[in-house]
Amino acid sequence: MQISDLAKLPYLVFADEQGNIYDHPYLRMAGAVGERIVSVDGACLIPLPEYSKLFFLPGCLPIGMDPETGRFVVLDSIEAGGKRFRPCAVAAFLEPGYVRTHLPAAEYSEKRYYLPMWSYTAVGFAEDGYLAAGFQIEYCERWDPRNYDDQQLLPAIEAFLSEVHDGPLVRHLVRCATDNHCFAAKNLFLRRWEAPLPVSRACNAACLGCLSAQPDGLFDASHDRLDFCPSKEEIVKIAVGHLEVAEDAIVSFGQGCEGEPLTEARLIAESVAEIRSVTNRGTINLNTNGSLPGAVETIAEAGLDSIRISLNSARSDFYRAYYRPRGYDFEDVVESIKIARKNGLYTMVNLLVFPGVSDQEEEIEALIGLIKETDLNFLHLKNLNIDPAYYLECMPSSGSEPVGMRKMTEILRSAHPNLQLGYFNQPVRKSGTGHEA
Ligand code: SF4
Repeated sequence: MQISDLAKLPYLVFADEQGNIYDHPYLRMAGAVGERIVSVDGACLIPLPEYSKLFFLPGCLPIGMDPETGRFVVLDSIEAGGKRFRPCAVAAFLEPGYVRTHLPAAEYSEKRYYLPMWSYTAVGFAEDGYLAAGFQIEYCERWDPRNYDDQQLLPAIEAFLSEVHDGPLVRHLVRCATDNHCFAAKNLFLRRWEAPLPVSRACNAACLGCLSAQPDGLFDASHDRLDFCPSKEEIVKIAVGHLEVAEDAIVSFGQGCEGEPLTEARLIAESVAEIRSVTNRGTINLNTNGSLPGAVETIAEAGLDSIRISLNSARSDFYRAYYRPRGYDFEDVVESIKIARKNGLYTMVNLLVFPGVSDQEEEIEALIGLIKETDLNFLHLKNLNIDPAYYLECMPSSGSEPVGMRKMTEILRSAHPNLQLGYFNQPVRKSGTGHEA
């Protein structure tokens, strides 16, 4: 970027220890790509989407850029709001459907704790408001936060419990909808779109950023993991009830509040077969780590429609460093993707992306190879929710250059023009129009 353009960048934002946010009068925002502090290209800046959140990062000094020299400056003291203090960096969490391009520029060396699991994004302030580093990969009405007004939810839950069904799994999903604000759980009670079917208590991986279990105790899991196994009868009742009435209906095994659904493969396969013996409507989907190819095949044969397999990387050493798999390996996951395609499932990979790692040349090359080898249908680009410093500390070192997240998507599109890129699960059997596709 030319020095003359630097003054046009948004201003650095920072916070005090109480979380009051200020914009700097002179320094401009910077971003980070992996461990490298960089200026943020204007093409990567968007007005902060309305349903995003702002965070301040206690103990992390903000890094800004001097627009006259282009040099990066660690801001260790500032006067604002009538007081002098050590400032904290500020980050944004983007609304669903947006891919972040830059991490916040922050000095983490004094931090003595782990940040909770959110995807921290660079943000600055300009005349018209906050600007964040990212781009929209998909808009989907079904996941638009504007369509999740809780005023409709509570009466819908009451009606569901009295008119439709009550049971241990439904009670669990009431807590997911009301305490954890899970959109999928809300959809069950609102009788529309994608609804959840959590079933598993155990997992065969130990992901650094697992939402439902953090055995190392470095930070709190954000969700309580399911602590019972639902009955097949209740699973089928919930699923059939949803598939038969909901528009664009999907029921999904594999949720943030459970372990790995493939550990309950027989229960899922029997449930899927029974659901399909009653109704042909809607999509039955499985979100999974894809660790057990044989189990994927069994569930596919039972009548599954789509599968979403999560990965943080197409490079096996990066995969192992994040998933810490037990009793399986990266090659099994690749095999599961192939088996899913062979069995005619709509096959999605949920790629947990992180600027500076996911957009490295080596990663893109590996990803292009994986897509070619497996012929998958859809690639989700999901921002990885994790403390940036922790993730980078745990990943293998690589000298491969990052090309930028936008460029990465362009390269993927041109290498695989038929591959769909997006953010949300897709209904593959239509069910809102009275016929099935
Ligand atoms: S595969 Fe899912 S449930 Fe298992 S550790 Fe990873 S995030 Fe947690």
